[in-house]
Amino acid sequence: MNSANEPCFVFRGNDVLLPSLPEAPVSGETIRRTFPDIIREGCFTKGRDACRWFEVAPETPAPEGMTFSTLRGTWGTFGDEWFVRAGHAYQLREGERTTRYCSRCGATTGTHATDRAKQCPSCGFVSYPIINPVVIVAIMKGDTILLARNAGFPTGRHSVIAGFVEAGETLEETVVREIREEVSIEVRDVAYVASQPWPFPHSLMIGFRATWASGEIRPDGQEIVEAGWYGPDSHPDIPPHGSISRRLIDAAFADIRGRAGGNI
Ligand SMILES: [Zn+2]
Repeated sequence: MNSANEPCFVFRGNDVLLPSLPEAPVSGETIRRTFPDIIREGCFTKGRDACRWFEVAPETPAPEGMTFSTLRGTWGTFGDEWFVRAGHAYQLREGERTTRYCSRCGATTGTHATDRAKQCPSCGFVSYPIINPVVIVAIMKGDTILLARNAGFPTGRHSVIAGFVEAGETLEETVVREIREEVSIEVRDVAYVASQPWPFPHSLMIGFRATWASGEIRPDGQEIVEAGWYGPDSHPDIPPHGSISRRLIDAAFADIRGRAGGNI
């Protein structure tokens, strides 16, 4: 079942086991020998590779030379590929442990016959792993973009506007509503750019670009405490590489620089 090179991820509560080297993953057999108290496990395919995840009991110590870390704390540790796979495993594990009982009638669920889901043997309700869609949007105004400081950000950090999709909304409607609510401006030309799974704990970030249409920036004072228009050569601290927010910001700044270069 397990090939020696099958990437395996071990979770303890919300922490993930850090291997000595991401390119030399511990085999499933070794994990079973090392951790006799596996609570649950599963497998998935990422690209062309089969991957496997395990969840061990809360007090389980890390093996010699390894440590458990929060998933967020591993960002940048082993490169994007490892992080993406670990995040995928994390979301599947989270899905498994949050669908053990039927949310409609409370009965213990069973595995769905065909889908990656749980089904209630009592009432038939199907529980899929939670995936929360979140829009994230770079707003352009001339040679600047809107960067805002969320109340929960580290001091000085600014980023693009983001918000959860509500029931009944299209993604484009969420973009317009969130921008209106958080910074009180209107936008036009909302266009999809890219997406990124964000396993904290189960979001899907859906990236857009939009163009300022009207209004003056007025931060809502709750979620957004500061916001302004910034160009590529003078802006506050922005999120690190590897996040879709940074990708949207870099792409917007590259376009602004490209336009400026074309005008010279
Ligand atoms: Zn049920």
